[in-house]
Amino acid sequence: MIADNIAALAAEINQAAAALAPRQQQFLADLIGIRSYTGQEGPAVERTLRELRAIGCDEVWRDTAGNALGRLGHGPRLILYDAHLDTNEVADEREWPHPPLTPTVAGGAMWGLGASDCKGGVAAIVYGAAILKKLGLSGDFTLLVMGATLEEDAEGFALRSLVERDGVRPEVVLLAEATDLSLRRGQRGRCEVRVRTSGKAAHASQPQLGESALLKMLPVIQALEAMNPGLPEHPLFGRGNQVVTLIEGPNTPNSVPSWCEVAVDRRMVPGETSDSVLGGIRAVVEPLGATARIPDQPVLTHTGQHLDGPSFFPGWLLDEHHPLVSAGLATGAALWGAPPAVGVWRFSTDGTYSAGAAGLPTLGFGPEEERFVHAADDQVDLLKLQKAAAFYALFPFLYASQE
Ligand SMILES: [Zn+2]
Repeated sequence: MIADNIAALAAEINQAAAALAPRQQQFLADLIGIRSYTGQEGPAVERTLRELRAIGCDEVWRDTAGNALGRLGHGPRLILYDAHLDTNEVADEREWPHPPLTPTVAGGAMWGLGASDCKGGVAAIVYGAAILKKLGLSGDFTLLVMGATLEEDAEGFALRSLVERDGVRPEVVLLAEATDLSLRRGQRGRCEVRVRTSGKAAHASQPQLGESALLKMLPVIQALEAMNPGLPEHPLFGRGNQVVTLIEGPNTPNSVPSWCEVAVDRRMVPGETSDSVLGGIRAVVEPLGATARIPDQPVLTHTGQHLDGPSFFPGWLLDEHHPLVSAGLATGAALWGAPPAVGVWRFSTDGTYSAGAAGLPTLGFGPEEERFVHAADDQVDLLKLQKAAAFYALFPFLYASQE
């Protein structure tokens, strides 16, 4: 595609994004008004399916894990846009300047629970597709738009189900999490490790007959915390870290505890695996008489499917010269006159599966701002929302025109 054509297409798309902005905002307001905690996304999924039909998707369906999906076109390059519908839970409603489930427009932004994580992203990708339909545009690509489930508690599990259960394997994935209209090409990973000591129970009146698993755990906790300065380091992400976050034992205040277990929250740099993490921890805790494992995370979808899997979410980093990054830069430049900045995320996303586990090139781009994520002033700027839809409409042309 020659440069003049791209400029003309970008102008046409910018115009259509502005024309569709009121409908896009209404859709976002409706989503904010629907409570959709993780595993309870049913009504938000239904609302998204309705919008995907209304904008004229060629095919609309709900997959096994209960994600909302819409397809546009039949081209050979399969591009997936993913934004999640579930939100984190409100801790204290009195801290919110506007009621969390009442969408409110103020100061050029829409406020409400999930506006910045990630319902603004859902409204951006759905209206990217809406622009293509309104303008009657298609190309050498098939576009899949996904209102995803389960991201807050088990990021990547619902996307894994789409790829591995339902057999939909995209060539590349774009995530509409908060980037403030810039690009994100990676994230740190995270996992949970359970470390356990065993002892012997005895009545607390004669402790010399028992063996306290709790006392055995004390040096183990210190050793786990002392590992921090030696954890793997990465030039872009810095060093990983681990924190002992939880301690458990038998709920018997009058006995010597026969077992003790701690949870370790570990943050990882790209390249770390469950074997490398467990190997490092076992080398430290086994000489102290403790065992270590990565537990399974229980996951139940709103459609009743059990998707339990290891509580391991690898980090990832896309090469800065990857065609996905070049296409993102070119898309921003064509729409707004300058290429967007490129960085990495601090938080974890569905990319932990697509890029970290499945090896699918993944890029982040969204209208939301990280500072409002999981905050009581949760909001998304309305102009950024419109601009993100334009990005999602133009991107496939610039991506599919590369090699
Ligand atoms: Zn999110």
